[in-house]
Amino acid sequence: MERFTKYKTMIFPREVIVGHNTTDQIKGMCRRITTSKNVLLVTDKNTKKISGDKIGKILSGSGFEVNITAIPSPMIKKDVPVAWPTMKEVNYVIKAASKAESDFLIGVGGGSVIDVTKLASYELSKFYISAPTSAAHDGMASPRASLKDKTGSLSKIAVSPTGILADTSIISKAPYRMLASGCADVISNLSAVKDWELAHRLKNEEFSTFAASLSETSSRLLLHKAEDIRSGLEEAVWQAVKCMIVSGVAMSVAGNTRPASGSEHMFSHMLDRVAPGKALHGEQCGVGAIMMMYLHGENWEEIRDFLKIIGAPTTAKELKIPKKKIVEALMDAQNIRPERYTILGEQGLTQDAAKKLAKITGVI
Ligand SMILES: [Zn+2]
Repeated sequence: MERFTKYKTMIFPREVIVGHNTTDQIKGMCRRITTSKNVLLVTDKNTKKISGDKIGKILSGSGFEVNITAIPSPMIKKDVPVAWPTMKEVNYVIKAASKAESDFLIGVGGGSVIDVTKLASYELSKFYISAPTSAAHDGMASPRASLKDKTGSLSKIAVSPTGILADTSIISKAPYRMLASGCADVISNLSAVKDWELAHRLKNEEFSTFAASLSETSSRLLLHKAEDIRSGLEEAVWQAVKCMIVSGVAMSVAGNTRPASGSEHMFSHMLDRVAPGKALHGEQCGVGAIMMMYLHGENWEEIRDFLKIIGAPTTAKELKIPKKKIVEALMDAQNIRPERYTILGEQGLTQDAAKKLAKITGVI
């Protein structure tokens, strides 16, 4: 018999607080997590006002030495999509943290602010707490960060947050479109897991049944709650955020993003290249999941119907992306990460196959 030599490292959040008016609990969380006192709050102009200043006040009133930095917002020129955030913003935070001699960081904001905090903490070898003000994708709990660069978007390795503080009363004030996008991102776990299983069977890629089950469970629970995911309903945020956190945990168990990122994510990343700045990450992944589940021979209608019920896009028109860009992104998607085997295979789809797929599933 072969000698057993396997090993695995899993890094999880230590404390997760989610629910109504939980912002005050940040001081208790920080005290339990660390004896360090010097913290850098990472925000942007908006999220500083929404929650950053309040968290700063609570912590400085509890004996913490608080510095707040606001990442510069992108200069938006009319109709020119801006690549934001980039490594420039990450370096900005690294500098701020070094100057303030911060022991740890708290990311207060949407996905982008948290991604920047995550990467800066990783580079600095400090831990961070994730305090989301919106939930447009599952990044609040995931160990990977996505940034923009000249070619579109890129996914970078980082670490899981040590604490997550998700105040549903704050997140429910963000535009509903963001929450619907976050739910679509979670639902796309279903196609990601199918891709992972395929890679396991065809390429003998390491597979974790635990991670796959957790990831699928987070999608399935949300599928059953479709009717509760509505605008103006704080309970919708509650359901969605819990699923996002479990989805993040699934990635921690796997040690990679396989449980939550497959061909539908490649399609979304390719759309960021060929049609940048049109739709949100989760919205694109949701539409991708409809098509990839069709290719897997799975229940793609279930995903489409869910997205319709919650008011997330299911068509090119709703994504505000031209039909031919959808076809283009389908054809080239597997080039995003050629080493990650998915249902798109090694060659990708032909133009005819891509068109047919988008038509049958009603995307174009
Ligand atoms: Zn995603």
